[in-house]
Amino acid sequence: MLRTHTCGELRPAHSGQQVTLTGWVQRSRDLGGMTFIDLRDRYGITQLVFNMETHPDLCEKARKLGREYVVSATGVVSERSNKNPRIPTGEIEIMVVELSVLNPSAVPPFTIEENTDGGDELRMKYRYLDLRRNPVKKNMELRHRMALETRKYLDFQGFLEIETPFLIKSTPEGARDFVVPSRMNPGQFYALPQSPQTFKQLLMVAGYDRYFQIVRCFRDEDLRADRQPEFTQIDCEMSFVTQEDVLNTFEGLAKSLFREVKGLETGNFPRMSYEDAMRLYGSDKPDLRFGMQFVDFTGLAKGHGFQVFDDAELVAGINAKGCASYSRKQTDELTEFVKKPQIGAKGLIYIRFNEDGTVKSSVDKFFDENTLKLWGEQAEAQPGDLLLVLAGDTLKTRKALNELRLEMGNRLGLRDPDIFKPLWVTDFPLLEWDEETRRFYAMHHPFTSPKPEDVALLDTDPGKVRANAYDMVINGVEIGGGSIRIHDRKLQQKMFKTLGFSDEDAQEQFGFLMNAFEYGAPPHGGIALGFDRLVALFGGSDSIRDYIAFPKNNAGRDVMIDSPARIAREQLDELRIKIVD
Ligand code: ASP
Repeated sequence: MLRTHTCGELRPAHSGQQVTLTGWVQRSRDLGGMTFIDLRDRYGITQLVFNMETHPDLCEKARKLGREYVVSATGVVSERSNKNPRIPTGEIEIMVVELSVLNPSAVPPFTIEENTDGGDELRMKYRYLDLRRNPVKKNMELRHRMALETRKYLDFQGFLEIETPFLIKSTPEGARDFVVPSRMNPGQFYALPQSPQTFKQLLMVAGYDRYFQIVRCFRDEDLRADRQPEFTQIDCEMSFVTQEDVLNTFEGLAKSLFREVKGLETGNFPRMSYEDAMRLYGSDKPDLRFGMQFVDFTGLAKGHGFQVFDDAELVAGINAKGCASYSRKQTDELTEFVKKPQIGAKGLIYIRFNEDGTVKSSVDKFFDENTLKLWGEQAEAQPGDLLLVLAGDTLKTRKALNELRLEMGNRLGLRDPDIFKPLWVTDFPLLEWDEETRRFYAMHHPFTSPKPEDVALLDTDPGKVRANAYDMVINGVEIGGGSIRIHDRKLQQKMFKTLGFSDEDAQEQFGFLMNAFEYGAPPHGGIALGFDRLVALFGGSDSIRDYIAFPKNNAGRDVMIDSPARIAREQLDELRIKIVD
């Protein structure tokens, strides 16, 4: 090794030892008689000292070092008189007697320190420099640790990690596929997997009754802060299990990650039906760090001559505790908020329960104080509370009220990233109706099993069928989802029919799976957890990009390697692809 220690390792106990360190020059300070250099590597920062009096040549050499030069320095560890309590090596420094430059560096385009002056685009272009920064490095370490703990837990539970192929076949369900042309089969394409779903089910047919894989998945979707075209899942499948077994196994995984990585005991995860989640929070991924459940006022609201309420399918609200003193400006802001096109409410009604016991509302014209007090009772409002009420079509009202609830949670500081509130959402509908294409889509995917007691409804009222499907939700983030699968050929065929596939199409697309079901397919089910999101959540951030070593930007580009890019004419010819534009 070119070094005896790392830059994060030395303490006063090493005083007097001669050591050799290697690393990058983070900073240098020239104080005339002395030159100080902060030398950085993956493990920390150590201060090097060059003394003009005793080693004038070395000192001259040190003064010439630029930022990010890679150097090797040999010297004696000495306890500092002026200690720096902010870094673990802050009690010592190295009195350098030998220095060599291993490689100079161009001036970096941004400062490589805890906080940088580099903007997003620049940091991504020089991601290898950004990765040198401590906060980014910590994110990589967290990711590694979580992958390791996941493997430990699942291995202990008897799961085998098995790799499934990346070059597979495009299917029309789900998101858009990334496709890869095949040179050897001109005119034909592979697709990159959106998930290893069908392969893990085939592994169950093969008898590998506990499978997992920390695996890259690819979806050609429009991007947002929490989406990447390639992302990582903890993908799992089990045979001979009920839904309850799957939930317990993966609740166990999440608990063990919280315990091992964050030192937290989370307790058992509550279970909530999709129906209740929508009714009480207007979302299938409720943030349970705070209450503020929806209150249904429909019964109380109707018949008082207020058209908006009388015409509404649902009148519902939330109790913003302690907000009765909100100024006109603040309530106007909230009204503006709910009227934003992406939220889509027509207006906001509020009822103040003043500290002095009086009640004031924006609908006083239609409701007297006593009636409004009944609303207060319904919402368990105390003096000082503010009810915020929306009305209209059920789905839209719930959706808007969910946004308003989250906004109030933010305003009131109720969404602390250091608090974790996990839950399971269960009993999802099997199918979703799409008005545009006038057909049903699988809410989870077409391999999800209907609840046995609902199977008959497939023929009469498919929209009412509930699935054996579940999501793990933490702090309002969908961390993962899965289901008990169909393992019977006939039921799978029926499912495809319900989704509008002809028998021939279903056979062509998914015949391999349905055929496999004829050879002793065991009952099975599983789940996939979004690994990037889980790491980001543990790291206290909303953006998964910070936890991926080489992420893509919002346009799906890797600005460092400048991809996607054109390919040579010869390559296109070989693939028999003609670009028309
Ligand atoms: N394959 C599914 C997904 O990627 C997860 C599962 O059902 O296990 O969402």
